[in-house]
Amino acid sequence: MEYTPEDEKLIAGKFEELLSSCEKIVKKPEDWDTIKRAFHLAKEAHAGVRRRSGEPYIIHPIAVAMIVVNEIGLGVKSVASSLLHDVVEDTHYEVPDIEKMFGAKIASMVDGLTKIAGVFVNSPSESGREFSSQAESFRKVLLTLSDDARVILIKIADRLHNMRTLGAMPAEKQIKITSETLFLFAPLAYRLGLYAIKTELENLCLKFRFPETYDEIQQKLAATAIGRDEFIERFIAPIRHRLHESGIDFKIEGRVKSAYSIWTKMQRKGVTFEEIYDLFAIRVIFNPSPVIPEKSQCWHIYALITDIYKPHPDRIRDWVNNPKTNGYEALHATVMGPEGRWVEVQIRSERMDEIAEMGFASHWRYKRADNQQDDEADFDKRLKVLRDVLNSPDQDAVEFLDNFKMALYSTEIVVFTPKGELRKLPQGATALDFAYDIHTDVGHSAIGAKINHKIEPISKAISSGDQVEVITSKNANPRPEWLEVVTTAKARQAIRDYLKGDVQSSMREGLRIFDEKLKEFGVKPSARVFRKILPAYNSNSKDEFYKKLGTGAINLNNLEEVLHQNSASKMLKFWEIGPLGKKYEAQRVGEEDGYVIATCCNPVPGDDIIGYDNPETGRMDVHKTSCEELTRLASRHGGRIKKVEWTSHKAMSHFAVIELRGIDRMGIMLDVSKLITGELNVNIREFSVRSHDGVFEGTVSVYVKDIKDVNSVIDKMKKINGIEQVKRING
Ligand code: MN
Repeated sequence: MEYTPEDEKLIAGKFEELLSSCEKIVKKPEDWDTIKRAFHLAKEAHAGVRRRSGEPYIIHPIAVAMIVVNEIGLGVKSVASSLLHDVVEDTHYEVPDIEKMFGAKIASMVDGLTKIAGVFVNSPSESGREFSSQAESFRKVLLTLSDDARVILIKIADRLHNMRTLGAMPAEKQIKITSETLFLFAPLAYRLGLYAIKTELENLCLKFRFPETYDEIQQKLAATAIGRDEFIERFIAPIRHRLHESGIDFKIEGRVKSAYSIWTKMQRKGVTFEEIYDLFAIRVIFNPSPVIPEKSQCWHIYALITDIYKPHPDRIRDWVNNPKTNGYEALHATVMGPEGRWVEVQIRSERMDEIAEMGFASHWRYKRADNQQDDEADFDKRLKVLRDVLNSPDQDAVEFLDNFKMALYSTEIVVFTPKGELRKLPQGATALDFAYDIHTDVGHSAIGAKINHKIEPISKAISSGDQVEVITSKNANPRPEWLEVVTTAKARQAIRDYLKGDVQSSMREGLRIFDEKLKEFGVKPSARVFRKILPAYNSNSKDEFYKKLGTGAINLNNLEEVLHQNSASKMLKFWEIGPLGKKYEAQRVGEEDGYVIATCCNPVPGDDIIGYDNPETGRMDVHKTSCEELTRLASRHGGRIKKVEWTSHKAMSHFAVIELRGIDRMGIMLDVSKLITGELNVNIREFSVRSHDGVFEGTVSVYVKDIKDVNSVIDKMKKINGIEQVKRING
């Protein structure tokens, strides 16, 4: 009926593929029946519906089921649930229908999948549903799912297929979907140990978000492949020889970093592709001998390799003795290779490798034979971090997502109590986090810590291997600054709970002081006033401002000055920005017309930009496409994202900050200032330099006409004798 003969052929072919993939998971004849019935129901239910790409809709659930069985390693019930995952959401079937046909387990998984879908479908502009409620329902859904994490895994598979086929979607949808993916699904995949999927999701985000950057990185990787392969071969040859001699059964290969991780490194460190030295790692995967423990074999291989190449003493990561909570096990070492280049070597058994690639599902598979009970516990442990975050009910819904992401992504350190008990904390944790990890009361009364027997402040960051002892005092109490000191959700929540009583009253006090002061000046607290005040007092929100004011952390002595200063965005009036692709008459678009240049990333004409329709100001904030703040916003308010573009570069002048670094020598400052003032058509707004130990560091704030001018200044600066590094930073 609604399927053409070509459709039928395509669908039959895909389903055939799925069936052959299922051979490895099907245990009994009824399983085939379950899979086929799920397929026929979904095919009938989605009949007549096509995806944006033009394919019949049923191709999508089949593809999700393929991912679930081949890339995640789940079983028959999950395959059936994947086939049915959009049936309740999109067709007239209800969960009870599914239950009648497939039983309670599959029905409850489909129910879970339907509920999650509901969270992501609505964007605020379409439904009026606000983000906080979206976060709230996301949390609820995840909580109910903790009984069956397979639902989360299938949802990840669903997202992966949608990302693989994202090209068919319009630009704005792409931004919403990639943002959610970066913000939620990639971290989730990471936490569940699905490294390969996490990497693919991130790469796809980069590909659709910044196609040119993505292509450029891929193309540079291809262009440098030959030289890299030669180096890897030279590096590997002696290792291969030595391991063979020792009778080890192994594979060794060079693994190139993903485009996304190369890109984030370039962003984070402000370096070019050419400046990244660790583009690849070497991986040794061995087939363990049955008589020697895997652990010992890892260290044996490590010893053989470090006989050849000197190891870096600080760069050994032992996830064999202490697996990550997502299940990852391996021994990582960095050694000095030929030409004095540091090379990372990862040593894993075949079992460890499969866990790393396919996540805990394979962990399960390996353990299943020994003890079913244990698996459940293991699995529970893996989801514990997730649940810890989800379970703090008092958290502000928006903040919850920040913590959630952080908890998912953080890598771990292992520290010891004075009694030698081992505690795992996220990297970057401080002594105070440790105190709260021991017990809330210990945290509340902490005044310092002995780290490796040396007295340190509680704000001190701790590292793997440290022995930490908390010093407490009965008279100590949590202070608001502590919130800046801690990094774990648990500590933050405990401090917040304690301070909550206090905070409400200080905010009221702050509001009172502010109102009084404004009356003195005869000014009304408008959005315009807050745009000046919040940055001037280093506050991100009104609440934060009131709180700081109420607790006396700030005072309003220079309020008059702040109110009268010209806001940095004043020059925007000359900029022209418009909706993408829409033909409209050239006109001056500036602040009055509703566009505001975001101060977090300060785009200048020529930069790739995206608009965010800010509900608080009623205006369109214009961010750089690469802005992290934008990614955060887009993950929450996908519907408020609008593609915009510079329509003219007639602008008078725009603000940009350049950072430079070099070797201090006589006259270098003069050379730099001469370059900017004399040789180029730009105006310096500010030029500050610091010099210490013969190193010259400075920032130059300039007004330029467009990005070409900034680049040209940077190019010329690089040529100045003594200048080593020049880059544009966000002002
Ligand atoms: Mn779907």
